[in-house]
Amino acid sequence: MKLQKCERCGKPTAEGLPFCPACMEESGAAAEAVTAAEELRDIARVLSITADTDANIQEAMQGILNIAERLERRF
Ligand SMILES: [Zn+2]
Repeated sequence: MKLQKCERCGKPTAEGLPFCPACMEESGAAAEAVTAAEELRDIARVLSITADTDANIQEAMQGILNIAERLERRF
């Protein structure tokens, strides 16, 4: 998953989503859709950092992703 620019304001949004969460909200998107778009954007941010960093940081990021995954399963 990568980041791309919002077609409306140029802020980062997840690849595959034309608009960023803020623009989605402004255009009247459902709250759940906006929240999902925010989560995708944040995941894409983490993944774009790991793409060109050294092994130690990639390890740390993997740990964070694992924690996030476990937290998610509780809900
Ligand atoms: Zn936008």
